[in-house]
Amino acid sequence: MSNASALSSPLSEDEVLRIRNDFPLLATELNGHPLVYLDSGATSQNPLSVMEAEQEYYEQRNAAVHRGAHTLAVAATESYESARSTVASFIGANAEEIVFTSNATEALNLVAYSLSNASLGRGGDAARPYALGPGDSIVVTELEHHANLVPWQELAARTGAEIRYIPTDDDGALLLERAAAVVDGSTKVLAFTHVSNVLGTLTPVAELVGLARAAGALTVLDACQSVPHLPVDVGALDVDFMVFSGHKMLGPTGIGVLYGRSDHLSALPPFLTGGSMITTVTMEGSDYLPPPARFEAGTQRISQAIALESAVNYLAETGMGRIAERGSALGERLVGGLESIDGVRVLGPGTGSERIGLAAFDVDGVHAHDVGQFLNARGIAARVGHHCAQPLHRRLGLTASTRASTYLYTTMEEIDAFLAAVAEVRSYFG
Ligand code: PLP
Repeated sequence: MSNASALSSPLSEDEVLRIRNDFPLLATELNGHPLVYLDSGATSQNPLSVMEAEQEYYEQRNAAVHRGAHTLAVAATESYESARSTVASFIGANAEEIVFTSNATEALNLVAYSLSNASLGRGGDAARPYALGPGDSIVVTELEHHANLVPWQELAARTGAEIRYIPTDDDGALLLERAAAVVDGSTKVLAFTHVSNVLGTLTPVAELVGLARAAGALTVLDACQSVPHLPVDVGALDVDFMVFSGHKMLGPTGIGVLYGRSDHLSALPPFLTGGSMITTVTMEGSDYLPPPARFEAGTQRISQAIALESAVNYLAETGMGRIAERGSALGERLVGGLESIDGVRVLGPGTGSERIGLAAFDVDGVHAHDVGQFLNARGIAARVGHHCAQPLHRRLGLTASTRASTYLYTTMEEIDAFLAAVAEVRSYFG
């Protein structure tokens, strides 16, 4: 098969089995059973190549980047900047539009604090259009992960702006007819998720971006659950900022990514300050480097960036279109299977919706923590709780749910083992 046709054919079950060989942890046992890892939405497992990339860096090129003139420092800097370029081209951005952070949460806080610094007059004339104050509004949605909600609540509290939200219906679909009333001329920021980490479904990005543009608001997209699972082109999405986390896309923990359109990054003042982000420092004041360095204060996450580059290469070589197709098939099997179990309610829309391979559910009369323990005893690792989305759970009439989330290494057999276990939950606790 030619490379081109291999990349367009669906990811077969045999290929998934081959992929699993690259992931040592997937071959381990949990409580005496072969591990069934269904918590990739929280954090994904790592292929050996990612671990080796990090180890190889420490064995051969470990040095502080952008600081030393010695050969090791130059090699480390080249590797770090190569990681930036690879991540940029993975999402259709330019390298200077990519800022490395610790995780997506820090990336969102970076945007919120930069805007609040602009509101304090930092950043001079260039940053003035970004200032928020009383009479302005920040809009989020009822679907958000706390990481894309709390930083905006805090920005509102710091600036006197009002926080508003676009509500969902009983299925967790955004009420777009209400959105038009929530987003208006006062709106400075519209922050929303690309894929819900509870429902696994996609939000209508084009419609929301259209509303924000008409209102003159900045858009901030939480792509934590989309970049690992779908082909994402930031230019096509036309958002101003986008964030995602390395550890959900085969990379290590400790690295996140902020995409910022270059005109915004060039105009905004920094969030964290200190070494590596300045041009001149006197005892009276300092001048800052252009982006992305302006937003990367202090010694950076060098090995993590290099390992993330390896993760991105792994995903790109497998093919994001094929990963998305596989995720959708896994999601359909999950949702269809759960729906057919008596007493199980899948959160959000049923089969037939555009989704990633993730589903959260409630088992009538059994607390999610008990469901989780029952599954764990059978070797199945699933997430229980509110999944950092308390408002959405409240909207759906729950305090907690159980979530199964898949990735490119998940087999259909694992889904079936999971469904068989869920089917036993009520009789076990009944
Ligand atoms: N947004 C969404 C949709 C998520 O699923 C997560 C992680 O669970 C986050 C934000 C926060 O990611 P991190 O904890 O890596 O900063």
